[in-house]
Amino acid sequence: MAELNLILLGPPGSGKGTQGERLQEDLEFPYYATGDILRAAVKEGTEVGKAAKEYMDRGDLVPDEVIIGIIADRLESGEADHGFILDGFPRTVPQAEALDSKLTDLGRALTAVILIDADDEEIVRRLSGRRVCQEKGHVYHVEFNPPAEDGVCDVDGSELYTRDDDKPEVVRHRLEQYHEKTAPLVDYYKKQGLLNQVDGADDPDRVSEKIRTLVSTLSLEEG
Ligand code: AMP
Repeated sequence: MAELNLILLGPPGSGKGTQGERLQEDLEFPYYATGDILRAAVKEGTEVGKAAKEYMDRGDLVPDEVIIGIIADRLESGEADHGFILDGFPRTVPQAEALDSKLTDLGRALTAVILIDADDEEIVRRLSGRRVCQEKGHVYHVEFNPPAEDGVCDVDGSELYTRDDDKPEVVRHRLEQYHEKTAPLVDYYKKQGLLNQVDGADDPDRVSEKIRTLVSTLSLEEG
């Protein structure tokens, strides 16, 4: 299979997690969702987790150097040598620059950036109904993507919970952070000719179809 180095970009709640999970089933590349990695670190009580928790609870971004180190370790480990899917990273221009320079050092380059966009109103509606599984972070929505049994993960049977940072006042702050710090990446990647946009307000199955078609085209081009 061709090497595909992919980024899923978009505001919180636009469906990156759902689409990332599906993409990971199709492609056998590691899937790095920095929010999941940080939540696991908080749960385990590691140094990174302790440093990240207060930022995450407020809906602020954790400092660039913390998150850049986490991704750099994974890219250097060899496990992502044939490709990767990044979700939630980069989230600032310095993070994107650090990723570019790390990939250049490794003699590699990004294949594409998939922007899953949605407007603020849609995002607030989605995040307020979002439920996440305790065990692995599988994502549901009480209205749009409910589990078969209320409050229980279809995949691993663990309990579903509402993230603290999905509370309305924290969601508003996360959106401000997105517009201020992450949205400039749209232009950053557009200028590099890497940006592909899908409408995150569409039905999740339609979004998956569009992403699958895009990834097949990229595979043919890269292959
Ligand atoms: P997410 O699950 O992607 O919404 O991420 C949850 C929280 O983790 C964010 O609100 C940030 O506090 C933190 N986080 C995740 N990824 C990053 C990143 N690339 N840079 C800074 N903070 C991050």
